Amino acid sequence: MDELKKIKNQVLSCKKCSLYRTRVHPVFGEGNPKARIMFVGEAPGFNEDRTGRPFCGQAGKILDELLEFIGIKRGEVYISNLLKCRPPENRDPQKEEIKACSSYLERQIEIIKPKVICPLGRYSMRFLMEKYGLKEKIEPISKIHGKVFEVKNLFQEIKIIPLYHPAVATYNINMKEILKRDFKILEKFK
Ligand code: URA
Ligand code: SF4
Repeated sequence: MDELKKIKNQVLSCKKCSLYRTRVHPVFGEGNPKARIMFVGEAPGFNEDRTGRPFCGQAGKILDELLEFIGIKRGEVYISNLLKCRPPENRDPQKEEIKACSSYLERQIEIIKPKVICPLGRYSMRFLMEKYGLKEKIEPISKIHGKVFEVKNLFQEIKIIPLYHPAVATYNINMKEILKRDFKILEKFK
């Protein structure tokens, strides 16, 4: 069986943290298994929990629009989340939940080997920047959105580009323009 499928099956029956009690469907992630660009949101919301698909509600509509704006099809990229199960009432992810769940994301990254990873949200940004040795560079998203952090070592060359969570554009129209500007940066990596 292919590796991503294997991990997906583990996620579908995972009980490593208490979120399994309240979730309807775990949301593994979807997209091109050879994607050059990978997006990592925070956690499933209401719609994602119902359907088992990432970014399929309001925030997803904006993400689709932003991708279309730069001429990238949703199926060309890979879309996932830091947590695979929805926190009740969409509350923030908790430390223990991130600890329990993050190895799934790490394995997705190892298999897909994206050139660019875009965290969408505070928690995924913190997790990924710490993972790639960028802890000292962490600042509020208002400061570092759209910045390209290059990580180079013997084994890999990867760019981390933190972006505002697309949901911000649902309650602040000006944010869509900022998001569009930041997404433009991704054009050259497609
Ligand atoms: N917000 C996220 O962070 N992830 C989703 O999948 C949907 C909304
Ligand atoms: Fe397992 Fe992650 Fe879901 Fe927790 S959030 S039950 S660790 S898949």
